[in-house]
Amino acid sequence: MNRLDQIIRPNIRSLKPYSSARDEFKGSAEVFLDANENPFGALNRYPDPLQKELKILLANEKQVDPNMIFVGNGSDEIIDLLFRSFCVPGVDNVISLNPSYGMYQVSAEINDIQLINVDLDERFDITSQKILQSIDNHTKLVFICSPNNPTGNVIDLEIIDTICKEFNGIVVVDEAYIDFADSPSATSILDENWNLLICQTFSKARGLAGARVGYAIASEKIIAVLNKVKPPYNVSQLNQIEAIRALKNTAAFIDQVTLIKKQRSYLTNKLNELPIVKFIYPSEANFLLVVFLNGPELYNWLINKKIVVRNRNNVLANAIRITVGSPLENEKLLTEIKNYCNEKENTIY
Ligand SMILES: *Cc1c(COP(=O)(O)O)cnc(C)c1O
Repeated sequence: MNRLDQIIRPNIRSLKPYSSARDEFKGSAEVFLDANENPFGALNRYPDPLQKELKILLANEKQVDPNMIFVGNGSDEIIDLLFRSFCVPGVDNVISLNPSYGMYQVSAEINDIQLINVDLDERFDITSQKILQSIDNHTKLVFICSPNNPTGNVIDLEIIDTICKEFNGIVVVDEAYIDFADSPSATSILDENWNLLICQTFSKARGLAGARVGYAIASEKIIAVLNKVKPPYNVSQLNQIEAIRALKNTAAFIDQVTLIKKQRSYLTNKLNELPIVKFIYPSEANFLLVVFLNGPELYNWLINKKIVVRNRNNVLANAIRITVGSPLENEKLLTEIKNYCNEKENTIY
């Protein structure tokens, strides 16, 4: 058995996947009477189960083979598929860094898999030794979110590379925010690492959170495992069309990312002028993690002004995660935070 076969769940390794009508007939035809579809309407046909057109465009942009790409109904579907493909419920475990994206924990619990948290240090950094020490014989996945949510920092590629080489399981690098980062993507070390899987998404920089399109880039063999386990038509025709449209609109993508990155520094500078801001973590994502004098109180103040930010007080005392919005949205936010400061000055200090 090869290295990959050894870590696949036995029932998945032997699984004969469902073969859909669109899997069995792939050529071009004029009359389709094979899938019990209604012959009338605009969305009456099942979509391409393997999203070939979308994958060719993505493959071109990422400079990988289309067979190295898996498209999911959001990255959240990919996270769940990884659990179901590699982890035996009640037996296996996975590793996540702490604090990080909450879906790893939820997906682990749904699949009855233990999640081992490895704490990041005070600068939200980690060493490869600390991660490797937490791995045991039942560890199947290591989740590394980079840039990390909610902390905004990237994990060094050297650390990721070392873990890939020392760990006999899948290293999942969640790059939902990579388009906002100045650091390189882990796709640059894909060739040397058989067990590396990179998740990216259309939900953030590509502006398509409403469509639900995420994708994984990994070796053909890993992608083939996910293809076996996924529901046959997991990405709707509507999603595929919108993702293709977004990929072709490179100019809007570049403009928006450039503007958001500029607004990120602007917001950082303006917030740093305020007496209630204790610390802003350096961010390579489209959000800032800000520690205030009294985070929960400011959070409630902003809610009353109809501005919603993410209260991260339970992750880090007095921290709020603020998404970088449009220039107008950011000004509204700054105005209300200043109003809060003035009110505080007039009362207590
Ligand atoms: C927002 C986000 C995603 C995106 O998930 P989708 O299901 O693709 O919308 C993935 N990972 C992290 C860490 C995120 O913050």
